[in-house]
Amino acid sequence: MSSQIGVHAAVWSGGWSDAESRHAIAESKAAEYDYIEIMAFDPASIDVAKTRALLADAGLGVTSSLGLNWDNDLSSEDPAVVARGETLLEAVIDCNAALGSKYLVGVIYSALGKYSRPATPRGRANCVAALQRLARRAADSGITLGLEVVNRYETNLFNTAAQALDIVSEIGAPNLGVHLDTYHMNIEEDDFDEPVRLCGDKLVYVHIGESHRGYLGSGNVDFATFFRALGECGYAGPIAFESFSSAVVAPALSNTLGVWRNLWTDNRDLARHAKEFIDRLRAPS
Ligand code: MN
Repeated sequence: MSSQIGVHAAVWSGGWSDAESRHAIAESKAAEYDYIEIMAFDPASIDVAKTRALLADAGLGVTSSLGLNWDNDLSSEDPAVVARGETLLEAVIDCNAALGSKYLVGVIYSALGKYSRPATPRGRANCVAALQRLARRAADSGITLGLEVVNRYETNLFNTAAQALDIVSEIGAPNLGVHLDTYHMNIEEDDFDEPVRLCGDKLVYVHIGESHRGYLGSGNVDFATFFRALGECGYAGPIAFESFSSAVVAPALSNTLGVWRNLWTDNRDLARHAKEFIDRLRAPS
């Protein structure tokens, strides 16, 4: 069993209107990806029946991801804020189930943004308890939750694989694990090998992003080492290419991630290049 290779929807479009969803699904298929990762910030904006039909027509799989915000942060000390996050994530899990997605990943534990203070024990406990409940709901639909390890400017709860493993074991749900992203690893980890080995079978999802989030191979990420570690650890979960440019604006995400620069304009070329780049690194040597 080998990994499915996906592409993040923001390579194609910033939202999920009729035109955007048709475009994103057709282009993902044309660039020979196995699946598309949809942004699930607002599950009510996703026309599930239509999306499901478009995916089936294209023969494309699907996962979804999101980051929380200051009003629905599971790691907040304010129970009302945590409750809003839990309600949103329940809806996202149900949307995933209806779409046929088996993975919900990203910053589903904290606001996506720069905190001005460290995480607190009470906030962390709120997050752990909420994710225990959400993991049970996800398990009922056969969905795996992946906690994405992101850099210090995008969460304060954990920034390395080792820290993520601590909270994953505290939560203690069989269908909840670590989601690694090479863009963030390049900022926070010592190398691209040890975090993969540390995670072992707790690694459930992977984002492939360059150090500036543009064309793969044009930045600082040591992809050869990373893919070698994935192979040696027998990783068979999904791998999604993630890239952002000011050429495609995702209202819920671009400003939070600081996408101010134009890293590319030709997303077709970018996506084809990335797929070939990933296939080449995964080829048995
Ligand atoms: Mn990512």
